[in-house]
Amino acid sequence: MPNIDPSTIDLDRTAHEHAAALRAGEYTSVQLTEATLARVKAQDAALNAYVTITDELALEQARAADARLTSGDATLLTGVPVAVKDLLSTKGVRTTASSRMLEDFVPVVDCTVVQRLNASGAVTIGKANLDEFAMGSSTEHSYFGPTHNPWDLERVPGGSSGGSAATVAARGVPLSLGTDTGGSIRQPAALCGILGLKPTYGRVSRWGVVAFASSLDQVGPFGRDAEDLADLIQAIAGDDPMDSTTSDLPVPDFKEGFDRGFDGLRVGVPAEFMEGGDEGVRDAVEAAIAAMEANGATIVRDITLPTAKAALPVYYIIAPSEASANLARYDGVKYGHAVTNGRSAEDEMSRSRGEGFGPEVKRRIMLGTYALSAGYFDAYYLKAQKVRTLIRRDLDTAFERCDVIASPTSPNVAFRLNEKLDDPYAMYLNDLYTIPVNIAGNPGISIPCGFSEGLPVGLQLVAPHFEESTLLAAAHAYEGITDWHRQAPPSLG
Ligand code: GLN
Repeated sequence: MPNIDPSTIDLDRTAHEHAAALRAGEYTSVQLTEATLARVKAQDAALNAYVTITDELALEQARAADARLTSGDATLLTGVPVAVKDLLSTKGVRTTASSRMLEDFVPVVDCTVVQRLNASGAVTIGKANLDEFAMGSSTEHSYFGPTHNPWDLERVPGGSSGGSAATVAARGVPLSLGTDTGGSIRQPAALCGILGLKPTYGRVSRWGVVAFASSLDQVGPFGRDAEDLADLIQAIAGDDPMDSTTSDLPVPDFKEGFDRGFDGLRVGVPAEFMEGGDEGVRDAVEAAIAAMEANGATIVRDITLPTAKAALPVYYIIAPSEASANLARYDGVKYGHAVTNGRSAEDEMSRSRGEGFGPEVKRRIMLGTYALSAGYFDAYYLKAQKVRTLIRRDLDTAFERCDVIASPTSPNVAFRLNEKLDDPYAMYLNDLYTIPVNIAGNPGISIPCGFSEGLPVGLQLVAPHFEESTLLAAAHAYEGITDWHRQAPPSLG
């Protein structure tokens, strides 16, 4: 074992830099894991990025990783620390969805994605904080308290995967997993100044992931460069017999376009996605578009997404409807928080749900139950499904004339804690540009592209279905011409 003091390991490295150092024997995974655990714990007093930190499991996985590294059968993730959103079931490790309902829920299986992550030899450091059941854009709707943004601790990290984003931005871990139903990977990536990828609907299995809105949910990676995102999605993507919505299309080499640059890349900029946001955000995104153009991309300004403005209302019918059905399983009998001294079965069920769910989750259940109820179903749910088809067609039509669509990821930079908590509509507007992408099922990425008011701005790129490698190649090319992705927040120790 290299005779080094773990506290001297450079934790600002990316996952692929750690992977190279591990292979070169600079330090072991156990040493890296010890250093990572120490930093993550020191930071968490300020960030609250974790619901559970899994020291013992991490060190056990690190020992196994070191054995694999020595035997030569390591993957690119073997021995590398990763955080996992606490919406992904982990065998023997409580999985709370940041809800009182699941405060003590310990799954008996790993979800498919975590099984694949474990097979790669990655080291799971802990379960990251989120908005309860992934409903929110700020990670303030967590039973375990809000996560803070490492760029400004008075501000939110975005959400719902705020813990996963904050710990990567703070250089706690190089990689993490989140989920994205309406923007929950891309928006926190933007607000924390890192990269986040929402894969195509069907690219990654959701088996064992606590369900929110099943026609929209996807799992995806956070990281600090495109190479790291590619390595993580490579490990988790692909068909899964346990999730019938996964695609059996072959999984490509996600780094196949990394030498392509911007030459010949047609970047569509729909006016609809440049409206309604803060000026400083728009300026940073326009500068990014200009930089891509200066380096060989062709900018296509006259594409249009006329139905995109309907995406937010469509989402707030479809997602709550599916959530109300998915969350019916928490009845105080089979799972989770249970009141057992009620007057009747109905009273117990009602009180279990009343105590177990927080206000935003209740709001969604009420919205969804209403939209699905007899007499309203056709007017709301069915109509929303029809408009969904139109939104998808608009994107398909746009992609006849461009390879990627560029826009801000979020209309604003990180806002202050409590600023939007009492105004759900203001909160929902954070996802103005991300939600159409979930509605249509396309892949989308957020890439750091500058600052406004001293806070990070994200550039969103969207591609046709199953073209994640186009997004990763463009992100990689962009990293070659700017260094926004290397900017670090103030040190938290
Ligand atoms: N912010 C959106 C919502 O509250 C999206 C959440 C998500 O992607 N999980 O529903």
